[in-house]
Amino acid sequence: MENCIFCQIAQHQLPAKIAYEDDQVIAFHDIHPAAPIHLLVIPKKHITTLNDLEEEDAALVGRLQITAAKLAKELGFADAGYRVVMNCNQDGGQTVWHIHMHVLAGRGLSWPPG
Ligand code: 5GP
Repeated sequence: MENCIFCQIAQHQLPAKIAYEDDQVIAFHDIHPAAPIHLLVIPKKHITTLNDLEEEDAALVGRLQITAAKLAKELGFADAGYRVVMNCNQDGGQTVWHIHMHVLAGRGLSWPPG
């Protein structure tokens, strides 16, 4: 989608430090990391919020989680642990309008989140 920064990253029109990519999913490092490791795993397909998911997107959403778990193993933080978060709309803290899974690792993370 035009003017969507994550679509532009997915299409290599904007630079990002890419950690993984296939035909449906791309993962890259967050520009303002909230933890020593902070990845964003996104579908290449533009989906604005979690509320816009359709039944046909079920496998794609599963693929986001599988990608996060693969990256955790490859980058060596699977055993120590990590958190995945998907923010939705204003109260959820969403600021980029293309769904994305945050993968946070590298320090003990407190609960509940703010
Ligand atoms: P949200 O608040 O929508 O859940 O998360 C959006 C995330 O995208 C934030 O953590 C923010 O730092 C990150 N972000 C925003 N713009 C860019 C960008 O241009 N490049 C990268 N790599 N991350 C971005």
